[in-house]
Amino acid sequence: MLDYTHEDWKARAAALNIKGQAFIDGKFVDAASGKTFDCINPATDAVLVQVAEGDEADINRAVAAGRAAFEDGRWSRMAPGDRKAVLLKLADLIRANLEEMALLDSLDMGKLVTDAATVDAPGSAHFFQWYAEAIDKIYDEVAPTGPGDLALVSRVPLGVVGAVTPWNFPLDMATWKGAAALAAGNSVVLKPAEQSPLSALRLAELAAEAGVPDGVFNVVPGFGVTAGKALGLHMDVDCLAFTGSTAIGKMFMQYSGQSNLKQVWPETGGKSPNLVFADCEDLDTAADMAAFGIFFNQGEVCSANSRLYVERSIKDAFVEKLIARAEAMQPGDPLDPTSKMGAIVDEKQTQGIMRFVEEGKKSANLVTGGERVTVDGKGCFVQPTIFDDVAHDNPLARDEIFGPVLSVIPFDTEDEAVAMANDSIYGLAASVWTDNLSRACRVSDKLMVGTVSVNTVDALSAQTPFGGMKQSGFGRDLSLHSLEKYTALKTTWIKYKA
Ligand code: NAD
Ligand code: MN
Repeated sequence: MLDYTHEDWKARAAALNIKGQAFIDGKFVDAASGKTFDCINPATDAVLVQVAEGDEADINRAVAAGRAAFEDGRWSRMAPGDRKAVLLKLADLIRANLEEMALLDSLDMGKLVTDAATVDAPGSAHFFQWYAEAIDKIYDEVAPTGPGDLALVSRVPLGVVGAVTPWNFPLDMATWKGAAALAAGNSVVLKPAEQSPLSALRLAELAAEAGVPDGVFNVVPGFGVTAGKALGLHMDVDCLAFTGSTAIGKMFMQYSGQSNLKQVWPETGGKSPNLVFADCEDLDTAADMAAFGIFFNQGEVCSANSRLYVERSIKDAFVEKLIARAEAMQPGDPLDPTSKMGAIVDEKQTQGIMRFVEEGKKSANLVTGGERVTVDGKGCFVQPTIFDDVAHDNPLARDEIFGPVLSVIPFDTEDEAVAMANDSIYGLAASVWTDNLSRACRVSDKLMVGTVSVNTVDALSAQTPFGGMKQSGFGRDLSLHSLEKYTALKTTWIKYKA
Protein backbone atom coordinates (compact mmCIF):
# COMPACT_ATOMS: atom_id res chain seq x y z
CA MET A 1 0.00 0.00 0.00
CA LEU A 2 2.84 2.39 0.75
CA ASP A 3 4.14 1.95 -2.80
CA TYR A 4 0.78 2.90 -4.34
CA THR A 5 0.89 5.64 -6.94
CA HIS A 6 -1.58 8.50 -7.23
CA GLU A 7 -3.42 6.49 -9.89
CA ASP A 8 -3.55 3.43 -7.61
CA TRP A 9 -5.14 5.44 -4.80
CA LYS A 10 -7.61 7.10 -7.14
CA ALA A 11 -8.68 3.74 -8.56
CA ARG A 12 -9.15 2.31 -5.09
CA ALA A 13 -11.12 5.35 -3.96
CA ALA A 14 -13.42 5.03 -6.96
CA ALA A 15 -14.02 1.35 -6.18
CA LEU A 16 -15.09 1.94 -2.55
CA ASN A 17 -18.58 0.95 -1.45
CA ILE A 18 -19.22 3.76 1.05
CA LYS A 19 -21.98 3.29 3.61
CA GLY A 20 -23.81 6.26 5.08
CA GLN A 21 -26.60 4.75 7.18
CA ALA A 22 -26.60 4.92 10.96
CA PHE A 23 -25.41 1.80 12.80
CA ILE A 24 -27.86 1.01 15.61
CA ASP A 25 -28.39 -2.25 17.48
CA GLY A 26 -26.09 -4.23 15.21
CA LYS A 27 -27.32 -3.08 11.82
CA PHE A 28 -27.29 -0.26 9.31
CA VAL A 29 -30.54 1.72 9.39
CA ASP A 30 -31.92 4.93 7.95
CA ALA A 31 -32.65 7.87 10.22
CA ALA A 32 -36.14 7.61 11.68
CA SER A 33 -37.02 10.83 9.83
CA GLY A 34 -35.69 9.39 6.57
CA LYS A 35 -33.52 12.50 6.20
CA THR A 36 -29.99 12.45 4.83
CA PHE A 37 -27.25 15.00 4.27
CA ASP A 38 -24.45 15.31 1.72
CA CYS A 39 -21.07 13.94 2.71
CA ILE A 40 -18.58 16.10 0.86
CA ASN A 41 -14.97 15.53 -0.15
CA PRO A 42 -13.27 18.88 0.54
CA ALA A 43 -10.47 18.16 -1.93
CA THR A 44 -12.86 17.93 -4.91
CA ASP A 45 -16.16 19.43 -3.65
CA ALA A 46 -17.78 16.14 -4.79
CA VAL A 47 -20.58 14.45 -2.83
CA LEU A 48 -19.28 11.08 -1.65
CA VAL A 49 -22.50 9.58 -0.29
CA GLN A 50 -25.73 10.51 1.44
CA VAL A 51 -25.43 10.11 5.20
CA ALA A 52 -28.34 9.40 7.55
CA GLU A 53 -29.23 12.58 9.40
CA GLY A 54 -29.79 11.18 12.87
CA ASP A 55 -31.63 13.28 15.44
CA GLU A 56 -33.24 12.83 18.84
CA ALA A 57 -35.34 9.86 17.72
CA ASP A 58 -32.26 7.98 16.52
CA ILE A 59 -30.25 8.86 19.60
CA ASN A 60 -33.15 7.52 21.68
CA ARG A 61 -33.14 4.27 19.70
CA ALA A 62 -29.37 3.88 20.05
CA VAL A 63 -29.35 4.64 23.79
CA ALA A 64 -32.21 2.17 24.33
CA ALA A 65 -30.25 -0.49 22.44
CA GLY A 66 -27.14 0.29 24.47
CA ARG A 67 -29.09 0.14 27.73
CA ALA A 68 -30.73 -3.18 26.87
CA ALA A 69 -27.35 -4.68 26.03
CA PHE A 70 -25.84 -3.35 29.23
CA GLU A 71 -28.68 -4.68 31.40
CA ASP A 72 -28.67 -8.21 30.03
CA GLY A 73 -24.90 -8.39 30.37
CA ARG A 74 -24.11 -9.63 26.86
CA TRP A 75 -20.97 -7.47 26.95
CA SER A 76 -20.89 -5.82 30.38
CA ARG A 77 -20.79 -9.18 32.19
CA MET A 78 -18.53 -10.92 29.75
CA ALA A 79 -15.23 -11.94 31.39
CA PRO A 80 -12.57 -9.32 30.62
CA GLY A 81 -10.51 -11.98 28.87
CA ASP A 82 -13.42 -12.65 26.51
CA ARG A 83 -13.90 -8.96 25.74
CA LYS A 84 -10.18 -8.89 25.09
CA ALA A 85 -10.48 -11.61 22.45
CA VAL A 86 -13.23 -9.71 20.62
CA LEU A 87 -11.38 -6.40 20.67
CA LEU A 88 -8.16 -8.06 19.50
CA LYS A 89 -10.14 -9.42 16.56
CA LEU A 90 -11.39 -5.92 15.87
CA ALA A 91 -7.80 -4.64 15.84
CA ASP A 92 -6.97 -7.38 13.31
CA LEU A 93 -9.96 -6.44 11.15
CA ILE A 94 -8.90 -2.78 11.13
CA ARG A 95 -5.46 -3.90 9.94
CA ALA A 96 -7.03 -6.15 7.31
CA ASN A 97 -9.03 -3.15 6.05
CA LEU A 98 -6.35 -0.53 6.56
CA GLU A 99 -6.47 0.79 3.02
CA GLU A 100 -10.23 1.33 3.16
CA MET A 101 -10.11 2.98 6.59
CA ALA A 102 -7.36 5.33 5.41
CA LEU A 103 -9.26 6.22 2.25
CA LEU A 104 -12.48 6.94 4.14
CA ASP A 105 -10.82 9.52 6.39
CA SER A 106 -8.83 11.04 3.54
CA LEU A 107 -11.84 11.40 1.24
CA ASP A 108 -14.12 12.59 4.03
CA MET A 109 -11.99 15.33 5.56
CA GLY A 110 -9.05 15.95 3.25
CA LYS A 111 -6.07 14.54 5.13
CA LEU A 112 -3.25 12.95 3.16
CA VAL A 113 -4.06 9.34 2.44
CA THR A 114 -0.47 8.39 3.22
CA ASP A 115 -0.81 9.94 6.70
CA ALA A 116 -4.13 8.18 7.20
CA ALA A 117 -2.51 4.91 6.11
CA THR A 118 0.59 5.27 8.28
CA VAL A 119 -0.71 7.19 11.31
CA ASP A 120 -4.50 7.22 11.75
CA ALA A 121 -5.56 3.74 10.66
CA PRO A 122 -2.65 1.76 12.19
CA GLY A 123 -3.09 3.91 15.30
CA SER A 124 -6.71 2.84 15.60
CA ALA A 125 -5.75 -0.84 15.39
CA HIS A 126 -2.97 -0.30 17.92
CA PHE A 127 -5.21 1.49 20.44
CA PHE A 128 -7.88 -1.24 20.25
CA GLN A 129 -5.16 -3.83 20.75
CA TRP A 130 -3.67 -1.90 23.66
CA TYR A 131 -6.95 -1.62 25.61
CA ALA A 132 -7.85 -5.21 24.76
CA GLU A 133 -4.55 -6.45 26.16
CA ALA A 134 -4.81 -4.23 29.23
CA ILE A 135 -8.30 -5.05 30.35
CA ASP A 136 -7.68 -8.53 31.82
CA LYS A 137 -4.57 -7.34 33.72
CA ILE A 138 -6.09 -4.74 35.98
CA TYR A 139 -6.75 -5.78 39.57
CA ASP A 140 -9.14 -4.23 42.04
CA GLU A 141 -8.54 -3.51 45.73
CA VAL A 142 -9.31 -4.98 49.12
CA ALA A 143 -9.51 -2.21 51.70
CA PRO A 144 -7.48 -2.56 54.93
CA THR A 145 -10.54 -2.86 57.22
CA GLY A 146 -9.42 -5.72 59.51
CA PRO A 147 -10.94 -9.06 60.62
CA GLY A 148 -14.72 -9.40 60.39
CA ASP A 149 -14.99 -6.97 57.51
CA LEU A 150 -14.11 -7.57 53.89
CA ALA A 151 -14.35 -4.40 51.84
CA LEU A 152 -13.86 -4.77 48.10
CA VAL A 153 -13.18 -1.66 46.07
CA SER A 154 -13.78 -2.37 42.43
CA ARG A 155 -14.03 -0.51 39.15
CA VAL A 156 -17.31 -1.21 37.37
CA PRO A 157 -18.57 -0.06 33.97
CA LEU A 158 -20.97 2.87 34.03
CA GLY A 159 -23.62 1.81 31.56
CA VAL A 160 -24.20 3.80 28.38
CA VAL A 161 -21.33 6.06 27.32
CA GLY A 162 -22.06 8.84 24.84
CA ALA A 163 -19.13 9.97 22.71
CA VAL A 164 -19.10 13.10 20.57
CA THR A 165 -16.07 13.56 18.36
CA PRO A 166 -14.48 16.11 15.99
CA TRP A 167 -13.45 15.78 12.36
CA ASN A 168 -9.68 16.20 12.46
CA PHE A 169 -8.81 12.58 13.32
CA PRO A 170 -12.17 10.90 12.73
CA LEU A 171 -11.15 7.26 13.14
CA ASP A 172 -8.70 7.86 15.97
CA MET A 173 -11.05 10.07 17.99
CA ALA A 174 -13.76 7.38 17.68
CA THR A 175 -11.14 4.85 18.78
CA TRP A 176 -9.71 6.79 21.72
CA LYS A 177 -13.20 6.96 23.22
CA GLY A 178 -14.58 3.67 21.92
CA ALA A 179 -11.69 1.33 22.69
CA ALA A 180 -11.40 2.33 26.34
CA ALA A 181 -15.16 2.56 26.98
CA LEU A 182 -15.84 -0.81 25.34
CA ALA A 183 -12.90 -2.56 27.00
CA ALA A 184 -14.29 -1.45 30.37
CA GLY A 185 -17.61 -3.12 29.55
CA ASN A 186 -19.82 -0.19 28.64
CA SER A 187 -22.23 0.25 25.77
CA VAL A 188 -21.34 3.17 23.51
CA VAL A 189 -23.36 5.62 21.42
CA LEU A 190 -21.00 7.62 19.22
CA LYS A 191 -22.00 10.81 17.40
CA PRO A 192 -19.20 11.56 14.94
CA ALA A 193 -18.68 15.03 13.48
CA GLU A 194 -21.03 15.74 10.58
CA GLN A 195 -18.01 16.59 8.41
CA SER A 196 -16.49 13.13 8.77
CA PRO A 197 -18.82 10.27 9.79
CA LEU A 198 -17.63 7.58 7.36
CA SER A 199 -14.80 5.81 9.16
CA ALA A 200 -16.76 5.55 12.41
CA LEU A 201 -19.65 3.87 10.57
CA ARG A 202 -17.30 1.34 9.01
CA LEU A 203 -15.64 0.83 12.41
CA ALA A 204 -19.02 -0.09 13.90
CA GLU A 205 -19.55 -2.64 11.13
CA LEU A 206 -16.11 -4.15 11.75
CA ALA A 207 -16.81 -4.25 15.50
CA ALA A 208 -19.94 -6.30 14.84
CA GLU A 209 -17.93 -8.62 12.56
CA ALA A 210 -15.37 -9.04 15.34
CA GLY A 211 -18.10 -10.16 17.74
CA VAL A 212 -19.09 -7.01 19.63
CA PRO A 213 -22.73 -7.90 20.41
CA ASP A 214 -25.70 -6.00 18.95
CA GLY A 215 -26.49 -2.75 20.72
CA VAL A 216 -23.07 -2.41 22.34
CA PHE A 217 -21.46 -0.08 19.80
CA ASN A 218 -23.83 2.30 18.01
CA VAL A 219 -22.91 5.14 15.66
CA VAL A 220 -25.47 7.85 14.96
CA PRO A 221 -24.32 10.44 12.41
CA GLY A 222 -26.03 13.83 12.45
CA PHE A 223 -25.58 17.44 13.42
CA GLY A 224 -24.43 18.80 16.75
CA VAL A 225 -27.48 20.93 17.53
CA THR A 226 -29.81 17.95 17.04
CA ALA A 227 -28.11 14.57 17.53
CA GLY A 228 -25.21 15.83 19.67
CA LYS A 229 -27.49 17.85 21.93
CA ALA A 230 -29.93 14.94 22.31
CA LEU A 231 -27.08 12.73 23.50
CA GLY A 232 -25.86 15.42 25.91
CA LEU A 233 -29.36 15.91 27.38
CA HIS A 234 -30.33 12.23 27.44
CA MET A 235 -31.63 11.04 30.81
CA ASP A 236 -30.27 7.52 30.32
CA VAL A 237 -26.69 8.29 29.26
CA ASP A 238 -24.24 7.85 32.15
CA CYS A 239 -21.14 9.52 30.76
CA LEU A 240 -20.40 11.87 27.91
CA ALA A 241 -16.89 11.87 26.47
CA PHE A 242 -16.41 14.91 24.26
CA THR A 243 -13.60 16.06 22.02
CA GLY A 244 -14.10 19.30 20.13
CA SER A 245 -14.12 23.03 20.66
CA THR A 246 -14.11 24.73 24.04
CA ALA A 247 -17.44 26.46 23.34
CA ILE A 248 -19.23 23.15 22.74
CA GLY A 249 -17.42 21.47 25.63
CA LYS A 250 -18.99 24.08 27.91
CA MET A 251 -22.40 23.31 26.43
CA PHE A 252 -22.04 19.64 27.32
CA MET A 253 -21.38 20.59 30.94
CA GLN A 254 -24.64 22.56 30.85
CA TYR A 255 -26.55 19.70 29.19
CA SER A 256 -25.48 17.50 32.07
CA GLY A 257 -26.72 19.98 34.66
CA GLN A 258 -30.00 20.33 32.81
CA SER A 259 -30.55 16.57 32.63
CA ASN A 260 -29.25 13.71 34.74
CA LEU A 261 -25.85 14.90 36.04
CA LYS A 262 -24.07 12.53 33.70
CA GLN A 263 -20.29 12.67 33.92
CA VAL A 264 -18.86 14.94 31.23
CA TRP A 265 -15.26 14.70 30.07
CA PRO A 266 -14.35 17.60 27.79
CA GLU A 267 -11.20 17.51 25.72
CA THR A 268 -11.23 20.80 23.93
CA GLY A 269 -9.20 23.39 22.07
CA GLY A 270 -5.61 24.51 22.27
CA LYS A 271 -3.11 27.17 21.28
CA SER A 272 0.02 25.27 22.09
CA PRO A 273 3.32 27.14 22.50
CA ASN A 274 6.63 25.89 21.15
CA LEU A 275 9.64 27.44 22.94
CA VAL A 276 12.96 27.42 21.09
CA PHE A 277 15.98 28.51 23.13
CA ALA A 278 19.29 29.59 21.61
CA ASP A 279 21.04 26.78 23.51
CA CYS A 280 19.25 24.16 21.39
CA GLU A 281 22.12 22.57 19.45
CA ASP A 282 20.19 21.00 16.59
CA LEU A 283 18.18 23.88 15.19
CA ASP A 284 17.58 22.03 11.92
CA THR A 285 15.67 19.30 13.70
CA ALA A 286 13.90 21.94 15.78
CA ALA A 287 12.83 23.65 12.56
CA ASP A 288 11.73 20.36 10.96
CA MET A 289 9.60 19.59 13.98
CA ALA A 290 8.27 23.12 14.39
CA ALA A 291 7.02 22.92 10.79
CA PHE A 292 5.58 19.45 11.37
CA GLY A 293 4.01 20.67 14.62
CA ILE A 294 1.93 23.29 12.83
CA PHE A 295 1.50 21.96 9.27
CA PHE A 296 0.83 18.26 9.90
CA ASN A 297 -2.82 17.45 9.15
CA GLN A 298 -3.18 20.99 7.68
CA GLY A 299 -2.73 22.40 11.17
CA GLU A 300 -6.04 20.85 12.17
CA VAL A 301 -4.60 19.36 15.33
CA CYS A 302 -5.85 20.29 18.79
CA SER A 303 -2.30 20.27 20.13
CA ALA A 304 -0.79 22.00 17.06
CA ASN A 305 2.24 24.10 17.98
CA SER A 306 0.67 27.28 16.66
CA ARG A 307 2.61 29.80 18.80
CA LEU A 308 6.34 29.72 18.23
CA TYR A 309 8.43 31.62 20.78
CA VAL A 310 12.05 31.92 19.62
CA GLU A 311 14.94 33.48 21.52
CA ARG A 312 15.68 36.76 19.79
CA SER A 313 19.35 36.05 19.02
CA ILE A 314 18.41 33.12 16.72
CA LYS A 315 14.96 34.24 15.63
CA ASP A 316 15.72 35.52 12.14
CA ALA A 317 17.87 32.53 11.21
CA PHE A 318 15.25 30.15 12.57
CA VAL A 319 12.45 31.81 10.64
CA GLU A 320 14.54 31.44 7.44
CA LYS A 321 14.71 27.69 8.07
CA LEU A 322 10.96 27.57 8.67
CA ILE A 323 10.12 29.46 5.50
CA ALA A 324 12.11 26.93 3.45
CA ARG A 325 10.23 24.06 5.09
CA ALA A 326 6.83 25.71 4.65
CA GLU A 327 7.49 26.38 0.99
CA ALA A 328 8.29 22.70 0.48
CA MET A 329 4.91 21.71 1.97
CA GLN A 330 2.43 23.24 -0.48
CA PRO A 331 -0.96 21.53 -0.52
CA GLY A 332 -1.84 18.95 -3.14
CA ASP A 333 -4.35 16.18 -3.88
CA PRO A 334 -4.64 14.14 -0.66
CA LEU A 335 -4.63 10.95 -2.76
CA ASP A 336 -1.27 11.83 -4.34
CA PRO A 337 1.47 10.22 -2.24
CA THR A 338 3.87 13.01 -3.21
CA SER A 339 1.59 15.71 -1.70
CA LYS A 340 2.91 17.25 1.50
CA MET A 341 -0.33 18.75 2.81
CA GLY A 342 -3.99 17.98 2.14
CA ALA A 343 -7.30 19.86 2.05
CA ILE A 344 -9.00 21.82 4.82
CA VAL A 345 -12.06 19.94 6.11
CA ASP A 346 -14.73 22.12 4.52
CA GLU A 347 -15.63 25.49 3.06
CA LYS A 348 -16.66 26.98 6.41
CA GLN A 349 -13.38 26.09 8.13
CA THR A 350 -11.41 27.36 5.14
CA GLN A 351 -13.19 30.71 5.26
CA GLY A 352 -12.62 30.91 9.01
CA ILE A 353 -8.88 30.33 8.58
CA MET A 354 -8.70 32.92 5.79
CA ARG A 355 -10.40 35.54 7.98
CA PHE A 356 -7.56 35.18 10.49
CA VAL A 357 -5.00 35.33 7.68
CA GLU A 358 -6.49 38.46 6.10
CA GLU A 359 -6.63 40.24 9.48
CA GLY A 360 -3.10 39.06 10.17
CA LYS A 361 -1.81 40.64 6.98
CA LYS A 362 -2.78 44.02 8.47
CA SER A 363 -1.28 43.48 11.93
CA ALA A 364 1.75 41.18 11.57
CA ASN A 365 4.54 40.36 9.15
CA LEU A 366 3.49 37.68 6.64
CA VAL A 367 6.66 35.88 5.55
CA THR A 368 5.26 32.96 3.54
CA GLY A 369 1.92 31.62 2.32
CA GLY A 370 -1.22 33.53 3.14
CA GLU A 371 -3.33 32.41 0.18
CA ARG A 372 -6.22 30.07 -0.38
CA VAL A 373 -5.49 27.85 -3.38
CA THR A 374 -7.17 25.14 -5.46
CA VAL A 375 -5.88 21.83 -6.76
CA ASP A 376 -7.04 21.04 -10.30
CA GLY A 377 -9.32 24.07 -9.96
CA LYS A 378 -11.22 22.65 -7.00
CA GLY A 379 -11.35 22.18 -3.27
CA CYS A 380 -10.51 23.83 0.05
CA PHE A 381 -6.76 24.37 0.35
CA VAL A 382 -4.69 26.90 2.29
CA GLN A 383 -0.96 27.46 1.89
CA PRO A 384 1.31 26.84 4.85
CA THR A 385 1.44 30.33 6.34
CA ILE A 386 3.88 32.01 8.72
CA PHE A 387 3.52 35.39 10.41
CA ASP A 388 6.63 36.83 12.04
CA ASP A 389 6.88 39.44 14.81
CA VAL A 390 3.35 38.76 16.00
CA ALA A 391 2.33 40.78 19.02
CA HIS A 392 1.54 38.50 21.93
CA ASP A 393 -2.02 39.85 22.18
CA ASN A 394 -2.75 39.63 18.44
CA PRO A 395 -5.67 37.22 17.72
CA LEU A 396 -3.17 35.26 15.59
CA ALA A 397 -1.28 34.44 18.78
CA ARG A 398 -4.30 34.13 21.04
CA ASP A 399 -7.13 32.33 19.23
CA GLU A 400 -7.25 28.76 18.00
CA ILE A 401 -7.18 29.04 14.18
CA PHE A 402 -7.15 25.29 13.51
CA GLY A 403 -5.37 25.64 10.21
CA PRO A 404 -1.81 25.83 8.78
CA VAL A 405 -0.99 29.22 10.29
CA LEU A 406 2.04 29.79 12.52
CA SER A 407 2.68 32.89 14.65
CA VAL A 408 6.31 33.65 15.53
CA ILE A 409 7.01 35.73 18.63
CA PRO A 410 10.54 36.62 19.80
CA PHE A 411 11.58 36.53 23.47
CA ASP A 412 14.61 37.70 25.45
CA THR A 413 14.52 35.75 28.71
CA GLU A 414 13.37 32.37 29.93
CA ASP A 415 10.94 33.96 32.38
CA GLU A 416 9.41 36.04 29.62
CA ALA A 417 9.01 32.99 27.38
CA VAL A 418 7.31 30.99 30.13
CA ALA A 419 5.04 33.89 31.05
CA MET A 420 3.89 34.36 27.45
CA ALA A 421 3.46 30.61 26.94
CA ASN A 422 1.22 30.40 30.01
CA ASP A 423 -0.76 33.54 29.18
CA SER A 424 -3.53 31.68 27.37
CA ILE A 425 -6.99 30.38 28.21
CA TYR A 426 -5.73 27.04 26.85
CA GLY A 427 -3.38 24.49 28.36
CA LEU A 428 -3.27 21.43 26.15
CA ALA A 429 0.37 20.94 25.16
CA ALA A 430 3.73 22.69 24.80
CA SER A 431 7.15 21.99 23.34
CA VAL A 432 10.56 23.10 24.62
CA TRP A 433 13.82 23.00 22.64
CA THR A 434 17.05 23.28 24.67
CA ASP A 435 20.14 21.21 25.40
CA ASN A 436 20.32 22.56 28.93
CA LEU A 437 18.77 19.83 31.07
CA SER A 438 18.07 22.09 34.03
CA ARG A 439 16.33 24.58 31.81
CA ALA A 440 14.26 21.81 30.19
CA CYS A 441 13.07 20.59 33.59
CA ARG A 442 12.58 24.09 35.04
CA VAL A 443 10.54 25.30 32.08
CA SER A 444 8.51 22.07 31.90
CA ASP A 445 7.66 22.42 35.59
CA LYS A 446 6.23 25.87 35.01
CA LEU A 447 4.19 25.22 31.87
CA MET A 448 0.52 24.77 32.74
CA VAL A 449 -0.34 22.20 30.09
CA GLY A 450 -1.27 18.52 29.92
CA THR A 451 1.77 17.41 27.88
CA VAL A 452 5.21 19.00 27.58
CA SER A 453 7.36 17.62 24.76
CA VAL A 454 11.08 18.33 25.25
CA ASN A 455 13.19 18.32 22.09
CA THR A 456 10.26 16.95 20.11
CA VAL A 457 6.66 17.97 19.41
CA ASP A 458 3.34 16.32 20.14
CA ALA A 459 4.77 13.37 22.04
CA LEU A 460 1.90 10.90 22.28
CA SER A 461 1.44 7.17 22.86
CA ALA A 462 -1.10 4.66 24.08
CA GLN A 463 0.88 4.48 27.33
CA THR A 464 0.62 8.17 28.27
CA PRO A 465 -2.47 10.26 29.08
CA PHE A 466 -3.49 12.93 26.61
CA GLY A 467 -5.57 15.95 27.60
CA GLY A 468 -5.36 19.45 28.93
CA MET A 469 -5.59 22.00 31.69
CA LYS A 470 -7.58 25.24 31.88
CA GLN A 471 -10.06 25.67 29.02
CA SER A 472 -8.49 22.83 27.08
CA GLY A 473 -10.69 20.67 29.28
CA PHE A 474 -9.90 17.99 31.82
CA GLY A 475 -10.72 14.67 30.15
CA ARG A 476 -7.82 12.32 29.54
CA ASP A 477 -7.68 9.91 26.63
CA LEU A 478 -5.17 7.06 26.26
CA SER A 479 -3.27 5.16 28.97
CA LEU A 480 -4.90 3.25 31.81
CA HIS A 481 -6.06 6.58 33.24
CA SER A 482 -8.62 6.88 30.46
CA LEU A 483 -10.42 3.88 31.97
CA GLU A 484 -11.16 5.99 35.05
CA LYS A 485 -13.61 8.00 32.92
CA TYR A 486 -15.54 4.93 31.90
CA THR A 487 -15.80 3.21 35.28
CA ALA A 488 -17.15 3.99 38.74
CA LEU A 489 -15.55 3.04 42.03
CA LYS A 490 -17.78 0.63 43.88
CA THR A 491 -17.41 -0.56 47.47
CA THR A 492 -18.84 -3.93 48.48
CA TRP A 493 -18.66 -4.43 52.24
CA ILE A 494 -19.05 -7.94 53.62
CA LYS A 495 -19.45 -8.76 57.32
CA TYR A 496 -18.24 -12.19 58.41
CA LYS A 497 -17.68 -13.99 61.69
CA ALA A 498 -14.00 -13.53 62.38
P1 NAD B 1 -16.94 21.29 17.43
O1 NAD B 1 -16.91 21.58 18.88
O2 NAD B 1 -17.61 22.26 16.52
O3 NAD B 1 -17.66 19.90 17.16
C1 NAD B 1 -17.28 18.73 17.85
C2 NAD B 1 -18.47 17.82 17.95
O4 NAD B 1 -19.50 18.45 18.70
C3 NAD B 1 -19.08 17.45 16.59
O5 NAD B 1 -19.46 16.09 16.61
C4 NAD B 1 -20.30 18.35 16.53
O6 NAD B 1 -21.36 17.83 15.73
C5 NAD B 1 -20.72 18.43 17.98
N1 NAD B 1 -21.51 19.62 18.29
C6 NAD B 1 -21.41 20.85 17.69
N2 NAD B 1 -22.32 21.69 18.21
C7 NAD B 1 -22.99 21.01 19.16
C8 NAD B 1 -24.06 21.36 20.06
N3 NAD B 1 -24.59 22.57 20.07
N4 NAD B 1 -24.49 20.39 20.90
C9 NAD B 1 -23.96 19.16 20.88
N5 NAD B 1 -22.99 18.78 20.06
C10 NAD B 1 -22.49 19.69 19.21
O7 NAD B 1 -15.43 21.05 17.02
P2 NAD B 1 -14.84 20.66 15.59
O8 NAD B 1 -14.84 21.89 14.75
O9 NAD B 1 -15.49 19.44 15.06
O10 NAD B 1 -13.36 20.23 15.97
C11 NAD B 1 -12.35 21.14 16.17
C12 NAD B 1 -12.12 21.38 17.66
O11 NAD B 1 -11.84 20.16 18.31
C13 NAD B 1 -10.95 22.26 17.92
O12 NAD B 1 -11.27 23.21 18.91
C14 NAD B 1 -9.90 21.30 18.45
O13 NAD B 1 -8.93 21.88 19.27
C15 NAD B 1 -10.72 20.32 19.17
N6 NAD B 1 -10.01 19.06 19.37
C16 NAD B 1 -9.56 18.75 20.62
C17 NAD B 1 -8.88 17.56 20.85
C18 NAD B 1 -8.39 17.20 22.23
O14 NAD B 1 -8.08 16.05 22.48
N7 NAD B 1 -8.28 18.14 23.16
C19 NAD B 1 -8.65 16.68 19.78
C20 NAD B 1 -9.12 17.02 18.52
C21 NAD B 1 -9.81 18.22 18.32
MN1 MN C 1 -16.71 15.10 4.61
